Amino acid sequence: MSDAGLSTLVLEGSSRVGGRVWSAEEKWETNAGVVPIELGASQVGPSYARVRDAIDRLQLPTINEDRKLLPFSYHIGGQHVSASEWPDSPLNQTVGEEREILPERFSSNLLSRLNPLTELDDWFNPKFSSFDISLYDLFKRNGVSDAGIRLASAAGVNDLHGVSALRMLQEVTRGALEAEFLGPLDKDGKPIEHWPKNLVGGTIALPTAMAEQLDQEVRVNQQVTTIELEDDGVEVRTLDGNRYRARFVISSVPFSVLKYVHIWPRPPEAQFNAIRNLRYSETTRAFCRIKEPFWQEDGKGGSLVADGGAGIFWAIDNGSGEGEHRGMFVLTNLVGSRVSARSPDAAAQYLIDEMERIRPASRGQIEILKYHTWERQPLQRGCSPMFAPGQITAFANEMIVPHGRLHFAGEHTRRLDYGMESAMESGERAAFEVLDRA
Ligand SMILES: Cc1cc2nc3c(=O)[nH]c(=O)nc-3n(C[C@H](O)[C@H](O)[C@H](O)COP(=O)(O)OP(=O)(O)OC[C@H]3O[C@@H](n4cnc5c(N)ncnc54)[C@H](O)[C@@H]3O)c2cc1C
Repeated sequence: MSDAGLSTLVLEGSSRVGGRVWSAEEKWETNAGVVPIELGASQVGPSYARVRDAIDRLQLPTINEDRKLLPFSYHIGGQHVSASEWPDSPLNQTVGEEREILPERFSSNLLSRLNPLTELDDWFNPKFSSFDISLYDLFKRNGVSDAGIRLASAAGVNDLHGVSALRMLQEVTRGALEAEFLGPLDKDGKPIEHWPKNLVGGTIALPTAMAEQLDQEVRVNQQVTTIELEDDGVEVRTLDGNRYRARFVISSVPFSVLKYVHIWPRPPEAQFNAIRNLRYSETTRAFCRIKEPFWQEDGKGGSLVADGGAGIFWAIDNGSGEGEHRGMFVLTNLVGSRVSARSPDAAAQYLIDEMERIRPASRGQIEILKYHTWERQPLQRGCSPMFAPGQITAFANEMIVPHGRLHFAGEHTRRLDYGMESAMESGERAAFEVLDRA
Protein backbone atom coordinates (compact mmCIF):
# COMPACT_ATOMS: atom_id res chain seq x y z
CA MET A 1 0.00 0.00 0.00
CA SER A 2 2.79 2.40 0.93
CA ASP A 3 4.57 1.47 -2.34
CA ALA A 4 1.43 2.65 -4.17
CA GLY A 5 1.59 5.97 -2.35
CA LEU A 6 -1.15 5.32 0.21
CA SER A 7 -0.57 6.22 3.83
CA THR A 8 -1.43 3.40 6.23
CA LEU A 9 -1.84 3.19 9.97
CA VAL A 10 -2.11 -0.09 11.90
CA LEU A 11 -4.15 -0.12 15.11
CA GLU A 12 -3.38 -3.07 17.40
CA GLY A 13 -5.62 -3.80 20.36
CA SER A 14 -3.04 -5.53 22.53
CA SER A 15 0.30 -4.27 23.80
CA ARG A 16 2.31 -6.27 21.26
CA VAL A 17 2.39 -7.00 17.52
CA GLY A 18 2.08 -10.57 16.28
CA GLY A 19 -1.39 -11.83 17.29
CA ARG A 20 -1.30 -15.60 16.99
CA VAL A 21 2.42 -15.35 16.29
CA TRP A 22 3.76 -15.18 19.83
CA SER A 23 7.24 -16.24 20.88
CA ALA A 24 7.17 -16.40 24.68
CA GLU A 25 9.83 -14.97 26.95
CA GLU A 26 10.29 -18.50 28.31
CA LYS A 27 12.81 -20.55 26.37
CA TRP A 28 13.71 -24.20 26.13
CA GLU A 29 16.69 -26.24 25.12
CA THR A 30 16.55 -27.94 21.71
CA ASN A 31 19.17 -29.83 19.72
CA ALA A 32 19.66 -26.60 17.77
CA GLY A 33 20.24 -24.51 20.94
CA VAL A 34 18.04 -22.49 23.25
CA VAL A 35 14.93 -21.12 21.49
CA PRO A 36 11.78 -19.30 22.62
CA ILE A 37 8.69 -21.38 23.31
CA GLU A 38 6.21 -20.71 20.52
CA LEU A 39 2.66 -20.21 21.81
CA GLY A 40 1.28 -19.91 18.28
CA ALA A 41 2.71 -20.28 14.78
CA SER A 42 6.16 -21.80 14.38
CA GLN A 43 6.33 -23.81 11.16
CA VAL A 44 7.12 -22.25 7.79
CA GLY A 45 6.26 -24.77 5.08
CA PRO A 46 7.93 -25.17 1.70
CA SER A 47 4.85 -23.94 -0.20
CA TYR A 48 4.52 -20.74 1.84
CA ALA A 49 5.24 -18.44 -1.12
CA ARG A 50 4.37 -15.09 0.47
CA VAL A 51 5.82 -15.86 3.90
CA ARG A 52 9.06 -17.11 2.39
CA ASP A 53 9.25 -14.08 0.11
CA ALA A 54 8.81 -11.78 3.12
CA ILE A 55 11.49 -13.72 5.05
CA ASP A 56 13.88 -13.32 2.09
CA ARG A 57 13.16 -9.63 1.56
CA LEU A 58 13.56 -8.87 5.26
CA GLN A 59 16.70 -11.04 5.36
CA LEU A 60 15.52 -13.05 8.35
CA PRO A 61 17.58 -16.16 9.09
CA THR A 62 15.79 -19.52 9.45
CA ILE A 63 16.71 -22.85 11.03
CA ASN A 64 15.44 -26.37 10.48
CA GLU A 65 12.63 -27.25 12.83
CA ASP A 66 13.78 -29.57 15.61
CA ARG A 67 10.58 -31.31 16.72
CA LYS A 68 10.83 -35.02 16.04
CA LEU A 69 8.20 -36.87 18.06
CA LEU A 70 8.92 -40.15 19.79
CA PRO A 71 6.52 -43.02 18.95
CA PHE A 72 2.96 -42.85 20.28
CA SER A 73 1.27 -45.15 22.76
CA TYR A 74 -2.45 -45.15 23.58
CA HIS A 75 -4.39 -44.94 26.80
CA ILE A 76 -7.88 -45.95 25.81
CA GLY A 77 -10.69 -47.37 27.92
CA GLY A 78 -8.45 -47.26 30.99
CA GLN A 79 -5.62 -49.35 29.49
CA HIS A 80 -2.28 -48.48 27.97
CA VAL A 81 -0.96 -50.12 24.78
CA SER A 82 1.95 -49.44 22.45
CA ALA A 83 1.68 -48.84 18.70
CA SER A 84 2.90 -52.35 17.88
CA GLU A 85 0.22 -53.86 20.16
CA TRP A 86 -2.58 -51.70 18.75
CA PRO A 87 -3.76 -53.64 15.63
CA ASP A 88 -4.36 -56.85 17.60
CA SER A 89 -5.30 -55.29 20.91
CA PRO A 90 -8.78 -56.03 22.32
CA LEU A 91 -8.93 -52.28 23.07
CA ASN A 92 -9.02 -51.69 19.32
CA GLN A 93 -12.73 -52.07 18.56
CA THR A 94 -12.51 -50.82 14.98
CA VAL A 95 -13.28 -53.21 12.14
CA GLY A 96 -11.61 -54.52 8.98
CA GLU A 97 -8.88 -52.32 7.47
CA GLU A 98 -9.55 -49.66 10.12
CA ARG A 99 -7.74 -51.86 12.66
CA GLU A 100 -4.36 -51.21 11.07
CA ILE A 101 -4.64 -47.40 11.30
CA LEU A 102 -2.92 -45.94 14.34
CA PRO A 103 -5.16 -43.70 16.48
CA GLU A 104 -3.16 -40.49 15.90
CA ARG A 105 -3.54 -40.99 12.14
CA PHE A 106 -7.11 -42.26 12.14
CA SER A 107 -8.93 -39.07 11.33
CA SER A 108 -6.46 -37.73 8.74
CA ASN A 109 -6.31 -41.13 7.08
CA LEU A 110 -10.13 -41.27 6.74
CA LEU A 111 -10.33 -37.68 5.52
CA SER A 112 -7.70 -38.30 2.84
CA ARG A 113 -9.56 -41.38 1.65
CA LEU A 114 -12.96 -39.66 1.56
CA ASN A 115 -11.73 -36.37 0.07
CA PRO A 116 -13.50 -35.50 -3.21
CA LEU A 117 -11.79 -32.06 -3.52
CA THR A 118 -8.95 -31.60 -5.99
CA GLU A 119 -8.63 -27.80 -6.24
CA LEU A 120 -7.84 -25.53 -3.29
CA ASP A 121 -11.02 -23.49 -3.82
CA ASP A 122 -13.33 -26.47 -4.35
CA TRP A 123 -14.78 -25.90 -0.88
CA PHE A 124 -16.65 -22.87 -2.26
CA ASN A 125 -17.98 -24.81 -5.25
CA PRO A 126 -21.71 -25.58 -4.77
CA LYS A 127 -20.95 -28.97 -6.35
CA PHE A 128 -19.43 -29.97 -2.99
CA SER A 129 -21.96 -28.36 -0.65
CA SER A 130 -23.30 -31.81 0.27
CA PHE A 131 -20.03 -32.17 2.24
CA ASP A 132 -20.88 -29.12 4.38
CA ILE A 133 -22.09 -31.54 7.05
CA SER A 134 -20.60 -32.62 10.36
CA LEU A 135 -17.59 -34.92 10.39
CA TYR A 136 -19.78 -37.37 12.30
CA ASP A 137 -22.30 -37.44 9.45
CA LEU A 138 -19.54 -37.78 6.84
CA PHE A 139 -18.01 -40.77 8.62
CA LYS A 140 -21.39 -42.36 9.33
CA ARG A 141 -22.48 -41.90 5.71
CA ASN A 142 -19.32 -43.67 4.55
CA GLY A 143 -19.68 -46.72 6.78
CA VAL A 144 -16.96 -45.92 9.32
CA SER A 145 -17.51 -48.13 12.37
CA ASP A 146 -18.84 -46.55 15.56
CA ALA A 147 -15.56 -47.36 17.33
CA GLY A 148 -13.71 -45.70 14.42
CA ILE A 149 -15.86 -42.58 14.69
CA ARG A 150 -15.10 -42.39 18.41
CA LEU A 151 -11.41 -42.82 17.69
CA ALA A 152 -11.52 -39.98 15.15
CA SER A 153 -12.41 -37.62 17.98
CA ALA A 154 -10.34 -39.27 20.74
CA ALA A 155 -8.14 -36.87 22.67
CA GLY A 156 -10.00 -33.91 21.12
CA VAL A 157 -8.43 -34.35 17.69
CA ASN A 158 -11.75 -33.39 16.08
CA ASP A 159 -14.97 -31.76 17.12
CA LEU A 160 -17.10 -34.41 15.37
CA HIS A 161 -20.40 -32.56 15.59
CA GLY A 162 -19.10 -28.99 15.62
CA VAL A 163 -17.01 -28.70 12.47
CA SER A 164 -17.93 -28.88 8.79
CA ALA A 165 -16.36 -31.84 6.99
CA LEU A 166 -15.82 -29.50 4.01
CA ARG A 167 -13.55 -27.28 6.13
CA MET A 168 -11.43 -30.26 7.15
CA LEU A 169 -11.34 -31.67 3.61
CA GLN A 170 -9.97 -28.34 2.30
CA GLU A 171 -7.19 -28.54 4.88
CA VAL A 172 -6.34 -32.06 3.71
CA THR A 173 -6.25 -30.80 0.11
CA ARG A 174 -3.98 -27.91 1.10
CA GLY A 175 -1.78 -30.23 3.17
CA ALA A 176 -1.28 -32.58 0.22
CA LEU A 177 -0.01 -29.63 -1.85
CA GLU A 178 2.68 -28.97 0.75
CA ALA A 179 4.23 -32.36 -0.01
CA GLU A 180 4.71 -31.37 -3.67
CA PHE A 181 7.08 -28.58 -2.63
CA LEU A 182 9.47 -30.69 -0.60
CA GLY A 183 12.06 -30.67 -3.41
CA PRO A 184 14.47 -33.39 -4.51
CA LEU A 185 14.62 -36.64 -2.53
CA ASP A 186 17.67 -38.62 -1.37
CA LYS A 187 18.29 -42.30 -2.19
CA ASP A 188 15.96 -43.33 0.70
CA GLY A 189 13.14 -41.21 -0.71
CA LYS A 190 13.49 -38.51 1.98
CA PRO A 191 13.57 -34.80 1.04
CA ILE A 192 17.14 -33.49 0.91
CA GLU A 193 16.13 -30.13 2.30
CA HIS A 194 14.70 -30.16 5.83
CA TRP A 195 11.15 -28.82 6.24
CA PRO A 196 9.49 -27.10 8.00
CA LYS A 197 11.71 -24.18 8.95
CA ASN A 198 11.55 -21.93 12.01
CA LEU A 199 12.70 -18.36 12.34
CA VAL A 200 15.88 -17.66 14.28
CA GLY A 201 14.97 -15.79 17.47
CA GLY A 202 11.38 -17.01 17.23
CA THR A 203 8.53 -16.57 14.76
CA ILE A 204 7.90 -13.13 16.23
CA ALA A 205 10.91 -11.93 14.20
CA LEU A 206 8.67 -11.89 11.11
CA PRO A 207 5.79 -9.62 12.25
CA THR A 208 8.28 -7.44 14.14
CA ALA A 209 10.36 -6.89 11.00
CA MET A 210 7.22 -6.33 8.92
CA ALA A 211 5.99 -3.71 11.40
CA GLU A 212 9.33 -1.90 11.18
CA GLN A 213 8.80 -1.48 7.42
CA LEU A 214 5.57 0.50 7.89
CA ASP A 215 5.66 4.21 7.23
CA GLN A 216 4.00 4.85 10.60
CA GLU A 217 4.68 2.97 13.83
CA VAL A 218 1.99 0.45 14.86
CA ARG A 219 -0.29 2.03 17.48
CA VAL A 220 -0.54 -0.61 20.20
CA ASN A 221 -3.17 -0.72 22.99
CA GLN A 222 -5.73 0.61 20.53
CA GLN A 223 -8.59 -1.83 20.87
CA VAL A 224 -11.21 -0.93 18.29
CA THR A 225 -14.75 -0.72 19.65
CA THR A 226 -16.63 1.02 16.82
CA ILE A 227 -16.32 1.25 13.05
CA GLU A 228 -18.60 3.95 11.64
CA LEU A 229 -18.94 3.88 7.87
CA GLU A 230 -19.71 7.12 6.04
CA ASP A 231 -20.00 7.98 2.34
CA ASP A 232 -16.60 9.64 2.15
CA GLY A 233 -14.61 7.83 4.85
CA VAL A 234 -14.60 5.72 7.99
CA GLU A 235 -14.32 6.66 11.63
CA VAL A 236 -12.78 4.13 14.00
CA ARG A 237 -13.06 4.49 17.78
CA THR A 238 -11.00 2.71 20.39
CA LEU A 239 -11.54 1.66 23.99
CA ASP A 240 -9.52 4.61 25.33
CA GLY A 241 -11.69 7.13 23.46
CA ASN A 242 -9.37 7.81 20.53
CA ARG A 243 -10.89 8.49 17.12
CA TYR A 244 -9.20 7.82 13.79
CA ARG A 245 -10.43 8.78 10.32
CA ALA A 246 -9.45 7.04 7.09
CA ARG A 247 -10.71 6.69 3.55
CA PHE A 248 -10.78 2.88 3.95
CA VAL A 249 -10.40 0.38 6.76
CA ILE A 250 -9.14 -3.20 6.53
CA SER A 251 -10.18 -5.26 9.53
CA SER A 252 -8.15 -8.40 10.28
CA VAL A 253 -9.82 -8.78 13.67
CA PRO A 254 -10.90 -12.42 14.11
CA PHE A 255 -14.70 -12.69 13.88
CA SER A 256 -14.66 -14.23 17.38
CA VAL A 257 -13.67 -10.70 18.55
CA LEU A 258 -15.17 -8.56 15.77
CA LYS A 259 -18.58 -9.60 17.02
CA TYR A 260 -17.93 -7.32 20.03
CA VAL A 261 -17.18 -4.33 17.78
CA HIS A 262 -20.04 -2.03 16.71
CA ILE A 263 -20.17 -1.69 12.95
CA TRP A 264 -22.49 1.02 11.67
CA PRO A 265 -24.43 0.57 9.48
CA ARG A 266 -24.92 -3.10 10.24
CA PRO A 267 -23.37 -5.45 7.65
CA PRO A 268 -25.71 -7.37 5.33
CA GLU A 269 -27.45 -10.41 6.80
CA ALA A 270 -25.06 -13.21 5.72
CA GLN A 271 -21.97 -11.22 6.74
CA PHE A 272 -23.52 -10.24 10.06
CA ASN A 273 -24.40 -13.89 10.65
CA ALA A 274 -20.75 -14.83 9.92
CA ILE A 275 -19.35 -12.21 12.30
CA ARG A 276 -21.73 -13.33 15.02
CA ASN A 277 -21.50 -17.08 14.59
CA LEU A 278 -18.31 -18.25 12.85
CA ARG A 279 -16.95 -21.02 15.06
CA TYR A 280 -13.40 -21.10 16.40
CA SER A 281 -11.60 -24.15 17.73
CA GLU A 282 -9.57 -24.18 20.94
CA THR A 283 -5.90 -25.07 21.41
CA THR A 284 -4.33 -25.23 24.85
CA ARG A 285 -0.71 -26.23 25.17
CA ALA A 286 1.57 -26.96 28.11
CA PHE A 287 5.27 -26.89 27.30
CA CYS A 288 7.32 -29.18 29.52
CA ARG A 289 10.79 -30.17 30.59
CA ILE A 290 11.04 -33.92 31.08
CA LYS A 291 13.78 -34.60 33.61
CA GLU A 292 14.26 -38.27 32.70
CA PRO A 293 12.65 -40.27 29.86
CA PHE A 294 9.98 -41.99 32.00
CA TRP A 295 8.68 -43.92 28.99
CA GLN A 296 11.70 -46.17 29.23
CA GLU A 297 10.24 -47.51 32.48
CA ASP A 298 6.77 -48.40 31.15
CA GLY A 299 8.21 -49.29 27.72
CA LYS A 300 5.21 -47.95 25.78
CA GLY A 301 6.57 -45.11 23.65
CA GLY A 302 7.02 -41.54 24.80
CA SER A 303 4.17 -39.75 23.01
CA LEU A 304 0.60 -40.48 24.04
CA VAL A 305 -2.98 -40.31 22.80
CA ALA A 306 -5.33 -40.52 25.77
CA ASP A 307 -9.11 -40.69 25.58
CA GLY A 308 -9.38 -39.02 29.01
CA GLY A 309 -8.51 -35.46 29.92
CA ALA A 310 -4.78 -35.42 29.10
CA GLY A 311 -5.44 -35.23 25.35
CA ILE A 312 -2.30 -35.66 23.33
CA PHE A 313 1.21 -35.60 24.72
CA TRP A 314 4.20 -35.10 22.45
CA ALA A 315 7.52 -36.44 23.71
CA ILE A 316 10.15 -34.69 21.62
CA ASP A 317 13.29 -36.63 20.72
CA ASN A 318 16.51 -35.14 22.06
CA GLY A 319 18.59 -37.24 19.69
CA SER A 320 20.38 -39.20 22.44
CA GLY A 321 17.46 -41.09 23.97
CA GLU A 322 18.77 -40.29 27.43
CA GLY A 323 18.43 -37.51 29.97
CA GLU A 324 16.35 -34.37 29.65
CA HIS A 325 13.72 -34.16 26.90
CA ARG A 326 11.06 -31.70 25.83
CA GLY A 327 7.36 -32.54 26.04
CA MET A 328 4.12 -30.84 25.12
CA PHE A 329 0.49 -31.42 26.09
CA VAL A 330 -1.64 -30.53 23.06
CA LEU A 331 -5.29 -30.11 23.96
CA THR A 332 -7.66 -29.18 21.20
CA ASN A 333 -11.38 -28.66 20.63
CA LEU A 334 -13.63 -29.91 23.44
CA VAL A 335 -10.75 -31.47 25.40
CA GLY A 336 -8.91 -28.13 25.28
CA SER A 337 -12.00 -26.17 26.34
CA ARG A 338 -12.59 -28.48 29.30
CA VAL A 339 -9.05 -28.00 30.61
CA SER A 340 -8.76 -24.29 29.84
CA ALA A 341 -11.92 -23.54 31.82
CA ARG A 342 -9.67 -23.93 34.91
CA SER A 343 -7.19 -21.35 36.11
CA PRO A 344 -3.76 -21.77 34.43
CA ASP A 345 -2.17 -23.15 37.63
CA ALA A 346 -5.01 -25.59 38.26
CA ALA A 347 -4.99 -26.71 34.61
CA ALA A 348 -1.22 -27.28 34.62
CA GLN A 349 -1.44 -29.28 37.85
CA TYR A 350 -4.35 -31.30 36.45
CA LEU A 351 -2.26 -32.30 33.42
CA ILE A 352 0.64 -33.46 35.57
CA ASP A 353 -1.71 -35.39 37.90
CA GLU A 354 -3.53 -36.99 34.98
CA MET A 355 -0.26 -38.10 33.39
CA GLU A 356 0.92 -39.57 36.69
CA ARG A 357 -2.36 -41.46 36.97
CA ILE A 358 -2.00 -42.89 33.46
CA ARG A 359 1.76 -43.35 33.58
CA PRO A 360 3.00 -43.65 37.17
CA ALA A 361 6.58 -43.61 35.87
CA SER A 362 6.13 -39.90 35.02
CA ARG A 363 5.86 -38.99 38.74
CA GLY A 364 8.19 -36.07 39.49
CA GLN A 365 9.58 -36.06 35.94
CA ILE A 366 7.41 -33.37 34.29
CA GLU A 367 7.94 -29.66 34.85
CA ILE A 368 5.58 -27.32 33.00
CA LEU A 369 7.61 -24.36 31.74
CA LYS A 370 4.71 -22.53 30.11
CA TYR A 371 0.95 -23.06 29.85
CA HIS A 372 -1.12 -21.19 27.27
CA THR A 373 -4.72 -21.28 26.11
CA TRP A 374 -5.98 -19.42 23.05
CA GLU A 375 -9.67 -19.49 23.94
CA ARG A 376 -8.91 -17.27 26.94
CA GLN A 377 -7.01 -14.60 24.98
CA PRO A 378 -9.39 -11.61 24.92
CA LEU A 379 -8.39 -10.53 21.40
CA GLN A 380 -8.39 -14.01 19.85
CA ARG A 381 -10.96 -16.08 21.74
CA GLY A 382 -9.91 -19.21 19.93
CA CYS A 383 -7.20 -20.82 17.90
CA SER A 384 -8.55 -21.28 14.42
CA PRO A 385 -11.72 -20.45 12.42
CA MET A 386 -13.54 -23.73 12.02
CA PHE A 387 -16.90 -23.28 10.18
CA ALA A 388 -19.65 -25.36 11.78
CA PRO A 389 -21.69 -27.69 9.55
CA GLY A 390 -23.66 -25.57 7.05
CA GLN A 391 -21.68 -22.36 7.71
CA ILE A 392 -19.63 -22.56 4.50
CA THR A 393 -22.83 -22.69 2.45
CA ALA A 394 -24.49 -20.07 4.64
CA PHE A 395 -21.86 -17.34 4.48
CA ALA A 396 -18.32 -18.25 3.37
CA ASN A 397 -18.63 -16.27 0.13
CA GLU A 398 -20.51 -13.29 1.51
CA MET A 399 -18.41 -12.80 4.65
CA ILE A 400 -15.41 -11.32 2.82
CA VAL A 401 -17.29 -8.90 0.55
CA PRO A 402 -16.35 -5.28 1.40
CA HIS A 403 -19.05 -3.57 3.45
CA GLY A 404 -18.95 0.01 2.20
CA ARG A 405 -15.43 1.24 2.94
CA LEU A 406 -14.72 -1.64 5.32
CA HIS A 407 -12.64 -4.50 3.88
CA PHE A 408 -11.91 -7.84 5.52
CA ALA A 409 -8.64 -9.74 5.92
CA GLY A 410 -7.20 -12.33 8.33
CA GLU A 411 -6.98 -16.10 8.41
CA HIS A 412 -10.75 -16.42 8.73
CA THR A 413 -11.16 -14.86 5.26
CA ARG A 414 -8.72 -17.25 3.60
CA ARG A 415 -9.65 -18.84 0.29
CA LEU A 416 -6.77 -21.15 -0.63
CA ASP A 417 -3.98 -21.18 1.94
CA TYR A 418 -3.66 -21.95 5.61
CA GLY A 419 -1.68 -20.76 8.63
CA MET A 420 0.46 -17.63 8.37
CA GLU A 421 0.37 -17.96 4.59
CA SER A 422 -3.41 -17.50 4.67
CA ALA A 423 -3.07 -14.33 6.75
CA MET A 424 -0.76 -13.00 4.02
CA GLU A 425 -3.02 -14.26 1.23
CA SER A 426 -5.96 -12.39 2.72
CA GLY A 427 -3.95 -9.23 3.39
CA GLU A 428 -2.82 -9.17 -0.23
CA ARG A 429 -6.42 -9.58 -1.47
CA ALA A 430 -7.74 -6.81 0.77
CA ALA A 431 -4.88 -4.47 -0.21
CA PHE A 432 -5.67 -4.95 -3.91
CA GLU A 433 -9.38 -4.32 -3.23
CA VAL A 434 -8.52 -0.97 -1.66
CA LEU A 435 -5.95 -0.06 -4.33
CA ASP A 436 -8.62 -0.66 -7.00
CA ARG A 437 -10.84 1.94 -5.31
CA ALA A 438 -8.29 4.48 -4.09
C1 LIG B 1 -1.32 -22.90 18.54
C2 LIG B 1 -1.18 -22.40 17.14
C3 LIG B 1 -0.23 -22.97 16.32
C4 LIG B 1 -0.08 -22.51 15.01
N1 LIG B 1 0.92 -23.05 14.23
C5 LIG B 1 1.13 -22.53 13.00
C6 LIG B 1 2.27 -22.91 12.26
O1 LIG B 1 3.11 -23.68 12.74
N2 LIG B 1 2.45 -22.38 11.02
C7 LIG B 1 1.56 -21.48 10.50
O2 LIG B 1 1.76 -21.03 9.37
N3 LIG B 1 0.48 -21.06 11.20
C8 LIG B 1 0.25 -21.56 12.43
N4 LIG B 1 -0.79 -21.09 13.18
C9 LIG B 1 -1.76 -20.17 12.56
C10 LIG B 1 -1.28 -18.73 12.49
O3 LIG B 1 -0.79 -18.33 13.75
C11 LIG B 1 -2.46 -17.86 12.07
O4 LIG B 1 -2.99 -18.36 10.87
C12 LIG B 1 -2.11 -16.42 11.83
O5 LIG B 1 -1.23 -15.92 12.81
C13 LIG B 1 -3.39 -15.62 11.79
O6 LIG B 1 -3.09 -14.27 11.56
P1 LIG B 1 -4.27 -13.19 11.57
O7 LIG B 1 -3.62 -11.89 11.30
O8 LIG B 1 -5.39 -13.63 10.70
O9 LIG B 1 -4.87 -13.22 13.05
P2 LIG B 1 -4.15 -12.85 14.42
O10 LIG B 1 -2.73 -13.28 14.40
O11 LIG B 1 -5.02 -13.38 15.50
O12 LIG B 1 -4.15 -11.25 14.43
C14 LIG B 1 -5.29 -10.51 14.77
C15 LIG B 1 -4.81 -9.26 15.49
O13 LIG B 1 -5.95 -8.44 15.73
C16 LIG B 1 -5.77 -7.85 17.02
N5 LIG B 1 -7.11 -7.47 17.49
C17 LIG B 1 -8.14 -8.28 17.85
N6 LIG B 1 -9.20 -7.53 18.19
C18 LIG B 1 -8.85 -6.25 18.02
C19 LIG B 1 -9.56 -5.01 18.20
N7 LIG B 1 -10.83 -4.95 18.62
N8 LIG B 1 -8.89 -3.86 17.92
C20 LIG B 1 -7.59 -3.87 17.48
N9 LIG B 1 -6.89 -5.02 17.31
C21 LIG B 1 -7.53 -6.18 17.57
C22 LIG B 1 -5.16 -8.98 17.84
O14 LIG B 1 -4.55 -8.50 19.03
C23 LIG B 1 -4.16 -9.54 16.84
O15 LIG B 1 -2.91 -8.89 16.91
C24 LIG B 1 -0.94 -21.49 14.50
C25 LIG B 1 -1.89 -20.92 15.34
C26 LIG B 1 -2.01 -21.36 16.65
C27 LIG B 1 -3.00 -20.67 17.55
